[in-house]
Formats: sequence, C-alpha cells, structure tokens
Amino acid sequence: MEPSTYKKVNFHTHCYRCLHAKGTVSQYALEAVHQGLTALGFSDHIPFPDDSFDLRMPYAQIEDYMNEVTALKKEFHGKLRIYLGFEAEYLTRYTSYYERLLSNTPCEYLILGQHLLETEERKLYNVYRLKDTSLYESYARNVVGAMRTGYFRYAAHPDLIFFNDHPWDIHCDRACDILIDGASKYGFALEYNANGLRRGEKIYSDGKRYPYPHKNFWDKVSGSNIPVYVGSDCHEPAVLYDSCMDMAYANLAKRNIPVCTEI
Ligand SMILES: [Zn+2]
Ligand SMILES: [Zn+2]
Repeated sequence: MEPSTYKKVNFHTHCYRCLHAKGTVSQYALEAVHQGLTALGFSDHIPFPDDSFDLRMPYAQIEDYMNEVTALKKEFHGKLRIYLGFEAEYLTRYTSYYERLLSNTPCEYLILGQHLLETEERKLYNVYRLKDTSLYESYARNVVGAMRTGYFRYAAHPDLIFFNDHPWDIHCDRACDILIDGASKYGFALEYNANGLRRGEKIYSDGKRYPYPHKNFWDKVSGSNIPVYVGSDCHEPAVLYDSCMDMAYANLAKRNIPVCTEI
C-alpha cells in the first residue's frame, strides 16, 4: 500500500479515563511524536453532569482531563500540536452544557459521536443495538440536527448504524441520503473511521464486510464536496497510527475523496 501524502494527524483519540480504553494522554502524545504526527487531538467520550450513560469518565474527572491535556500542550510545544476536545452525543437536553464547555472551558472542539439516537419524540436508543432498520432515518435526521447546531466540528463514524446486522434495504439508502444531503447543505465534515476497520471484517447476513465504514455510504459520498477527515478513534496508544489508518486513506483515495488535516 502506498503511504498517504497527507500530513499525519488525528483528532479522534481516547484515553484510559473512558473506562474502555488504555493509555494516558502522555503515552498517546509520545506515540504521536514517534509516528511523526504533526497534530493530535484528544476527544475522549464526554461525561455529562448527571453522569448519565456508561463507557465514559465520571463527570468528577472532567477538570483533571482538561488540566492534563492543557499541561501536555505546553510540554509538547514545538514538537506536536495538541488539541483538547471531546467526542459527544448530541442530546437536546444538554444544549447549555455544550455551550458552556465551548465558551467557558479550555475545550477547543467537539466531534459528534452519536452512539445514542434521540428520536423526534425524545426517546433514546443505543445505536449499536437497533433491532431493525426502521430507525435508521431517524438516526440520520438526528445527526443532521446536530450539524445545524454549530457545536460540532465533524461527525465521527456517521455510518455507525451499519454495525447492526440487517440486510441493506430502502431505509439504509434513505438514511445515507439524509446524512449526505445534510452534510452537503451545511458544509459539515464527515469522518472515515479507522476503528471500524480495526474491528475487522465480519460475516453479516448480507455478506462479508466491515461493521463500518460501509462501502455503500462512502460510494455515495464520493463526488460530493463534503469535507472528510480520517479518524483513528484509537483506544490504545499502539494503534494510534496503524495499518488501518493507511487503509482508510487508501480507501478514500480510491474514491477520489480528498481529506482534511486541519481541525
Ligand atoms: Zn470508545
Ligand atoms: Zn471515539
């Protein structure tokens, strides 16, 4: 595989605090320098003030996380540009929280990781456990609603719904079209997620494929003017910039999709 000619960067990075990843922020920064990255953004799973939802740091740790990354920025000054952010679900009840984080704390950016789907009726569903494809369009409208708010820099794994094992149908097509039309309309960036590749190909009821990124989704993105980032979404330092990152760049190059390297 030809190495990508893009600057090596990553803005989707987790750390041990989220309770399902390994490594301190400092270990990720050292690995980034070792791999020749020029920029590294931390986007650990956002805690909510009421500690709703698992697989994330307790809210009581948010200051420690922000202080630790802020200190790291100084430590690596001149060697690596470090950014402080969060990967966040967009849930309307937390609107003032996103605003406060972005205006009154050192947090520099949010990426949208819609692991939870909030329907128009404000019902919540776990996106990894959708029983059929009937809510896929609702997920897509939910993500487009988040694009409109201006809180988020890009949508991480926009095609996460395909983690579920349901054969491709009209809801899948429509959900992709809603996402892509929304991103085009708002000039909103999408992420090609290397962690989906890292999960490996699996036998699904409609054939062998990666859970995400889904080929059909990215075929539709090809030819649009939507900005695209590659995100490592690494949950351990060793895979920060692994062969799945190279595969992600190669898959986009095959589709003539250019990649953004500045956040
Ligand atoms: Zn995670
Ligand atoms: Zn992530």
